Amino acid sequence: QQPEAVYTTDEYGRPFIILREQAKKTRSHGVEAIKAHILAARTVSNIIRTSLGPRGLDKILISPDGDITVTNDGATILSQMEVEHPIAKLLVQLSKSQDDEIGDGTTGVVVLAGALLEQSENLLDRGLHPMRIADGFERACSVAVQHLDKISDKLSFSKDNTENLLKTAMTSLGSKIVSKAHQQFAQIAVDAVMSVADLERRDVSFDLIKVDGKVGGSLEDTTLIKGVLIDKDMSHPGMPRVIKDARLAILTCPFEPPRPKTKHKLDITSVEEYKKLRDYEKQKFEDMIKNVKDTGANLVICQWGFDDEANHLLLQNELPAVRWVGGPEIETFQLIAIATQGRIVPRFEDLTSKKLGKAGIIREVSFGTTRDKMLIIEECANTRAVTIFVRGSNKMIIDEAKRALHDAICVVRNMVVDNRVVYGGGATEISCSIAVGKAADDVPSIEQYAMRAFASALDVIPLALAENSGLPPIETLAEIKSRHVTENNPRLGIDCTGTGDNDMKKQFIFDPLISKRQQLLLATQLVRAILKIDDVITSGASSE
Ligand code: ADP
Repeated sequence: QQPEAVYTTDEYGRPFIILREQAKKTRSHGVEAIKAHILAARTVSNIIRTSLGPRGLDKILISPDGDITVTNDGATILSQMEVEHPIAKLLVQLSKSQDDEIGDGTTGVVVLAGALLEQSENLLDRGLHPMRIADGFERACSVAVQHLDKISDKLSFSKDNTENLLKTAMTSLGSKIVSKAHQQFAQIAVDAVMSVADLERRDVSFDLIKVDGKVGGSLEDTTLIKGVLIDKDMSHPGMPRVIKDARLAILTCPFEPPRPKTKHKLDITSVEEYKKLRDYEKQKFEDMIKNVKDTGANLVICQWGFDDEANHLLLQNELPAVRWVGGPEIETFQLIAIATQGRIVPRFEDLTSKKLGKAGIIREVSFGTTRDKMLIIEECANTRAVTIFVRGSNKMIIDEAKRALHDAICVVRNMVVDNRVVYGGGATEISCSIAVGKAADDVPSIEQYAMRAFASALDVIPLALAENSGLPPIETLAEIKSRHVTENNPRLGIDCTGTGDNDMKKQFIFDPLISKRQQLLLATQLVRAILKIDDVITSGASSE
C-alpha cells in the first residue's frame, strides 16, 4: 500500500507534500498559470464587450430547459452563462458585486477588467513581475479615483424639480430594450424613487418599491401604482369590488375551521353524526369570522387557501377575503404588511385590532383588454410604498423591461445618495487615462509601466463604445483624446448616437460618480487578485 503523503522539495528546494490523490489532480503554476487565467477571463469579457453602450447588441441566452432570455445587461448575461472556469467565475462575481452595490455599470466593469488583464499579459511577456504589475495598477487606480472627484459635477434636484434625475435615468435606459418608451420608464423610475426617498437622510428604502409584471398590453401601458398590487381578486365574485377605509387582517395561518387531527380515529357511523360534525365545523368557522370582525377587520388577506364552503360562509357573513396571496413566496405578503403597517399574524388566536393593516381604499381593477382582475391597495398607512406594474407582449420583454427599470431605479437612487456625476460616452475614462498617463511620468520605478498600461486599459471603454456604434475606433479615440488636451474639456466622449456633438454634458449623458468609482475599484481589485494566484490545484475527483 502507498503511503498517504510524501514529503519532498520542488525544483527551487521549497518543501511540499505530495498527497496520494495527486495523480488525479492537475496542477498549473507560475506565469503559465496566470496567463491561462487571463485567457479564461478575457474570453468572458470579450463576450460582454459588444453589449456595451447605447448601440450595444443584445444577447440571447437559452437555459438548459429551453427558457429564453434576451438582454444586454452584463450581470444578467454572465449570471446565466454556465461558466465553468474558476477564474472566469470571478468575473461573473465581479459584475454581480457591481450590480449588488450600485445596480448599473455591470457591463462596463467587466470590460474594464478584461482590458486590464489584456494589458497585464503584455507586461508579463515583457518580464514584469506580477506583483509589480499589481502594485502599479493599484497606484494608477487611486490616481484615477482622485481624478474622478476633480472632473465631477454636482447635479441639483429637489422634490419638485426632478428634471436632472429624469435625464440620468434616461441615459441608463437608452441602451435597453425599452428605449422606445424610455421617457416614460425614466419618469416612472424617478417617481418611484422620489416617493420612497428620504432626501434629508439621503436614503432610499428599496423594499418599498416592488416591480411586478404581467403579460398583456404593451410596454407603454406600464404604470406606477402608489400602493401595493396583488395579483389576485376577491375570493368570491359576490364580494364588494371596492373597500373604503380598509382594515386588513393579514394571516399566514390557514383560515378554516379546525379539522379533527388525523392521528385520532374518528368513527362516523350515521348520517346524523356526519351532520353534527359538519354543523360543528360550520359553527366553529362562523365563530372565527365573528372574531375577525370583532377586531374591526373588514378584509382578510390569506397567504393560503380555504375551501369553497368557507368561502361561501365568508360571503354570507359579509367578510371579504383574498386567498393565496403570495402563496409560498412571502415577499408580496411582507410588502402588504409594511405598506399598511399591519402585522403578519401567524396564529389565529393572536389576531387583535392593533395588528390590522390600514389602507384608504382597496379596489379590484382589470387591466387592458385582458380579463384578469387584480387588487390595488392605495392610500396605505405607510404612503411611501409603490408598485411598478410592467406590461408587455411577452414574458421575455417584460423580464428585460424589469431589469432595465431596476438599473434606472438604481441610478436614480445613487443620485439621491450622492449627487455627483461624471460624464459618459467614455469621456470620463479618456480623462482618467490622460491623468494616469501623466502621473506615470512622475514615477521613477518600474511601476510606471503598469500605470501606463492601466491608462491604455481605460481607453478600451471609449474604443468599445465607438466600435459598437460603427465608428472607426482608433481614429475616433485619437481625435477626442487630443481634443481633451487642447480644449481642456473632460466632458468629450464618443458620440454613439450620431448627434454631431461630442460634449456629453450637452447631450446629458452622465453616470453617477459612485458608479464609476466602484467600477474602477472593483475591476482593479479583481485583476490584482488574479495576478496573485499562481498556483491552481484542481482535484481530479470530479472528472472521474
Ligand atoms: P452598463 O451595464 O455598464 O451600464 P450599458 O450597456 O448601459 O452598460 O452602457 C453604458 C455605457 O454607455 C456608459 O459608459 C455610458 O456612458 C455609455 N452611454 C450610454 N448612453 C450613451 C449615449 N447616448 N452616448 C454615448 N454613450 C452612452
